[in-house]
Amino acid sequence: MNLIPLETHLAQVLAKVTPREQLRVPLLEAHGCVLAAPVIARASLPGFDNSGMDGYAVRFADVQNASEAAPVRLRVVGDVPAGSSADPALAPGTCARVMTGAPIPSDADAVVPLEATTLGTAVTETAAETIDVTSAKGPGAHIRRAGEDIAEGTELLPAGTELGARAIATLAAGGVGEVEVVRRPRVAVIATGDELLDPTAADVAALTPARGQLYDSNTPLMGLLANEAGAEIIGVFRTDDSGEHLLEVVEAACERADVVITTGGVSVGAFDVVRLRLSDRGVNFTKVAMQPGKPQGFGQIGNALVFCLPGNPVSAMASFEAFVRPALRRMRGELGPTHDSRMAVVGEEWRTPAGRAQLMPVRWTDGDTIVPAHSGGSGSHMVGRIARADGLAVVPADCELVRVGDQLEVWEMLR
Ligand code: AMP
Ligand code: MG
Repeated sequence: MNLIPLETHLAQVLAKVTPREQLRVPLLEAHGCVLAAPVIARASLPGFDNSGMDGYAVRFADVQNASEAAPVRLRVVGDVPAGSSADPALAPGTCARVMTGAPIPSDADAVVPLEATTLGTAVTETAAETIDVTSAKGPGAHIRRAGEDIAEGTELLPAGTELGARAIATLAAGGVGEVEVVRRPRVAVIATGDELLDPTAADVAALTPARGQLYDSNTPLMGLLANEAGAEIIGVFRTDDSGEHLLEVVEAACERADVVITTGGVSVGAFDVVRLRLSDRGVNFTKVAMQPGKPQGFGQIGNALVFCLPGNPVSAMASFEAFVRPALRRMRGELGPTHDSRMAVVGEEWRTPAGRAQLMPVRWTDGDTIVPAHSGGSGSHMVGRIARADGLAVVPADCELVRVGDQLEVWEMLR
């Protein structure tokens, strides 16, 4: 069977993907979601001209010639703390004490900070009756203008923005109480294999693997990667290789999930239950020109997209990064590139299989340099080493030897 290029398989996956529906949620519940529509600022930020310093709001013309040698005396006729709505009238020769964030009196056109008066920074509870100004910067000095950050009616944030803490803070400042986001995709994970033990069982110590058994690491890997990619995990399952429960579990998962990820059982082995049971259920099993991760299943059952990934943990991880993460990105409304890519310089030589794109787990050493995270072997079973990788280097299919100094694209894995 011919191998399908990685990009072709990815394109086939993305062709089936559509963003989930929009919903309106309270601002804080939107954390981690993606904006479905731009948010327009209902008001300017700042909302009013305000003081950038503790000091005195003045008429600049009064103090323009002030100096240490010839201070200018002003009468203090008002006291405006932050939060006050007072707008004291300022006749020539007068000023108002203002604190940082206080609205600037309409008659003032500059702020003289405490440091530019003979009083210095000593703050008293009540304002002095007069002050002596020793310097003044210019009209508009230390005034934070209404709308200089965000102007009313302009875009506060564009559609496609991922709502992390900083974006939520911007929306909160803009008085946005609810936002239109794209629903998170719902993901179910199913690991297959007679050999698997539950690593989350109450008493794992009592589950010492017998000969032939091992702890299932793919359900935490797939479930938590999906979670980190912004999906909601709705179920985690393990099935054996008899196939009796597999169809039942997959079909039940497909009723509720947008994406179902299975691991294991997709090669040509006698017990490769996923391939045997799902081939005639709308899942297409192919060989992709990649390493690791050659056997791949992908299809649709009901409304769910089904990804059948190989069981070796490094293969499952690489397959997730290559196909599942891009799909989740689009489903959750992200508009940007399918991967977080960065160019890197190779710091250590390695061989790669001919005719297959390699996704090599790598570590950043210094600056832009990468080395294989798996020095001393790159087996796709080496789950003990994936935690040390910072990303996957993408080696083109036609390359057989990666040399020191070569430039490669790296898909960053941030955690
Ligand atoms: P398979 O794709 O089912 O042939 O599995 C390939 C290899 O991956 C075998 O060595 C399995 O033991 C291992 N494997 C399969 N599923 C898991 C899992 N959930 N956790 C850890 N290793 C697994
Ligand atoms: Mg298996």
